[in-house]
Amino acid sequence: MTIFSQIGLKIKLGKDRSQLSRKPAKLKKRNSEFTPSDQQDGVNELGEREHSIWSDASTLIGNRDHTDMIHGLAHHDSFDSLIDGIRSNSVGGGDERLDRAQLKRKYERSEKNKKLLGSLSGDLWQRIAALLDPADAAHLTITSRLFLEKLGNGSLRKLERPENKVHRVQFLNHMDAQMPNHLLCHPCGVYHLRTSAGDEKPRVDFVRNPPFICPKATTSYLPRMRLVHGRELPYYLIQLAIRHSAHSTRHGIHSDILCRRWKDKSSGWSHQSLYMIHDKRLLLRLRSQIFAPPKLTPTAERMLLYEQQEYTPFFSVCAHWRDGELMRLVKCALSHVPEAPESLINQMRKSPRAQDWIVKPNLIARQCDECRPARRCPECPTEYLIEISIREDPKDALNRFKHVLVVTRWSDLGDGTSPTSSPEYCAINGLKADYNSFNSVGRRAVAGVFESRMSGSIPGQRMISLNPKNQHAGEEGYGWY
Ligand SMILES: [Zn+2]
Ligand SMILES: [Zn+2]
Ligand SMILES: [Zn+2]
Repeated sequence: MTIFSQIGLKIKLGKDRSQLSRKPAKLKKRNSEFTPSDQQDGVNELGEREHSIWSDASTLIGNRDHTDMIHGLAHHDSFDSLIDGIRSNSVGGGDERLDRAQLKRKYERSEKNKKLLGSLSGDLWQRIAALLDPADAAHLTITSRLFLEKLGNGSLRKLERPENKVHRVQFLNHMDAQMPNHLLCHPCGVYHLRTSAGDEKPRVDFVRNPPFICPKATTSYLPRMRLVHGRELPYYLIQLAIRHSAHSTRHGIHSDILCRRWKDKSSGWSHQSLYMIHDKRLLLRLRSQIFAPPKLTPTAERMLLYEQQEYTPFFSVCAHWRDGELMRLVKCALSHVPEAPESLINQMRKSPRAQDWIVKPNLIARQCDECRPARRCPECPTEYLIEISIREDPKDALNRFKHVLVVTRWSDLGDGTSPTSSPEYCAINGLKADYNSFNSVGRRAVAGVFESRMSGSIPGQRMISLNPKNQHAGEEGYGWY
């Protein structure tokens, strides 16, 4: 019954919040004549959009989520506090008379709101529901018995249609917290029972081992993304990691379970993947490395960097790697690998002076101003860092310390809501082209967020655009191969 008191409260809260979001405390200036009506959401008086690394995500996203608001009606704090109040009263005692008075007041307010909402005709509510998108209309329908009576189950039936699958997934996503033993399957748009709840692991052959019994597991394409050559990340692992952090340990698996270290024997590349949750989204760091000999010919460089079937790099890349400087910078870094020192016998043959044998050449590779800075893809939340460093090769007795090419990629994999509408996931996989990484990510570099949490220090390199000209010129323009 208290649902009607919450609706009144929600409307009031919504109004207050919208005012707050329009005028954040940080941007408000004393004696300023600038009014909220003059500006867009999150834009200050100078016309700049301000982003802060420590700010709440809601200040970065201008719009309020109406689905959240409608769904929140059924799960508002006041409803829970009412139940908790009754429970605590029955368990711990307390001031019974006060609680009864509170309950009575809430009941009266709820009845008053119920009358108010009930006084509007069913036709009017139908017209309101018609203005909402299908998922929001369905949320409004299941808010309470009164709304179900007024609106009927038409909006729920509408979600069953194949053309409304996107809205159905959007509607079902809000039930995630109530479904710890199930997982939303995106190809079906249905919650499936998890067959090994809590024991899900990343498997190479994940198509034959889905974490739920899905009739479309072998006949349709399970959503996934390429990590490196020969490795993919199925979307359900992103969902499980985010559910674990957002709801409870019963809802998914810890993001640490996804971390892996492996070597591709055919190419010689070694890879290490790390994951963490930040701001309800899954972040990935994938570091790939290979021993890099000095003075490689163009053909040898290509053999080192590309697999020769689809001509994609062996290391991890976003969908936009062909447009921009990435491959040119990797080749630039390779050109800075110094030559290995000559053996002592060769040195003695070249020069009879003992002084020349003692002086060792500098083994530290010095990268130039082009290939040293970290780079951010302008079209997706992905950042790259290319380094030349020294590693020990235990298999080589003669030349024990060698140079390695290390390519690190940081990416934001999104919030796990859908592989076809989550903005970050769609952007890194090239499914949607409307993402502007410099506007969306702002000053929060994914690499900075990741490294400050994992190692306590932020990479010192400055960050510049991977594609400064913002052109889609491919092989002809950038000559990536
Ligand atoms: Zn399915
Ligand atoms: Zn360079
Ligand atoms: Zn990209």
